[in-house]
Amino acid sequence: MTVPPLVHLIAGARPNFMKIAPLWHALRDVPWCRPEIVHSGQHSDVNMSDWFFRDLELPAPHHHLNAQAGSHATLTATAMIAYDALCRQERPALAVVVGDVDSTIACALTAKKLGIAVAHLEAGLRSFDRSMPEEINRILTDSIADLLWTPSSDADQNLAREGVAPKRIARVGNIMIDSLIMAQPRIRAVDEARVIGRALPEKFAIVTLHRPSNVDHRERLGRIVQVLIDIAQRIPVIFPIHPRTRRSLVAFGLAKSLEHPGIVLLDPLSYLEFMALVHKARVIVTDSGGVQEESSYLGVPCLTLRESTERPITVTLGTNRLTRVETVVEDLESILAKPLGGAPAIPLWDGCAAERVAESLKRQLVLLQISSPLN
Ligand code: UDP
Repeated sequence: MTVPPLVHLIAGARPNFMKIAPLWHALRDVPWCRPEIVHSGQHSDVNMSDWFFRDLELPAPHHHLNAQAGSHATLTATAMIAYDALCRQERPALAVVVGDVDSTIACALTAKKLGIAVAHLEAGLRSFDRSMPEEINRILTDSIADLLWTPSSDADQNLAREGVAPKRIARVGNIMIDSLIMAQPRIRAVDEARVIGRALPEKFAIVTLHRPSNVDHRERLGRIVQVLIDIAQRIPVIFPIHPRTRRSLVAFGLAKSLEHPGIVLLDPLSYLEFMALVHKARVIVTDSGGVQEESSYLGVPCLTLRESTERPITVTLGTNRLTRVETVVEDLESILAKPLGGAPAIPLWDGCAAERVAESLKRQLVLLQISSPLN
């Protein structure tokens, strides 16, 4: 009997886990491939990694690359060295990388140079801002991946513009929304008052911030802290603080300035806890990629504190609006003055993206004519 081909599902940081989870669940029992989860170690804290395995019902990773935290170069290089050793030992038929973090490009590059096929899930997104480390990861990963699974037509157009052959592209939809739909019953069971340690306000804003452009410079972060206090004077704010942001707040001596009766400061929340709060939020202020999508799917107005978004569909069809430090309070007031609209319907945000990925993967494995991981 032939052994089904081995497929690595590679994840390393918080926004990756909700992208591999639906695919793991779609593949774990199929007879035609053998999926294994590879954790790069980019995020290793319990509240940035372990809780997501629990909440998304993932098994413990089959392999851990233990990439070292530090600079982009340290992380990328240590992930590459460890993944190179794993690939030489296991010879996977195909490596699936997701999103746009450093271990995405590190593992894609490593696999490709060993002659292992690479598929990129959530391909084609572009902010057109090359000062974002994630944009560099997206462009480089897409340029070498054999198979590009895109979430939306804008992503297909970006790839076409970059000269990617149409046969390498398959539009599969938004896989993060699969995770959100799968987790609905358990999200509904969360006790939000326990999560925030007090009664849930009837109306509240959620804030998430972690992009280097917002949190790495003292002056910029100081202005954002002032804006959050202005917002808290209009609506209670719940702010689960990303570890990077917390480090900056402490280093810049800004942590105390955030202490305000209208602001609930929390450590990063688990996926179920965070999504339970997002469901009930009146408005979100964020610079996260994933949160722009989740809020759009749920019909919660979202203000994105960035000059660009790699997810323009959240602006054109969803609830998202780009804003600046100077305009965010005004934008917030205009949102609060209007009744909530319904949740918009966005094509292929339907909970079936993982099924489409699995079909495309199956075709690709046949195409590669792989019957054994040792081929
Ligand atoms: N998230 C979470 N807990 C939090 C904040 C965010 O579970 O306290 C989830 C959120 O639902 C989304 C993902 O983390 O699915 C987004 O991750 P992040 O903002 O770190 O990365 P980005 O999407 O910007 O790459």
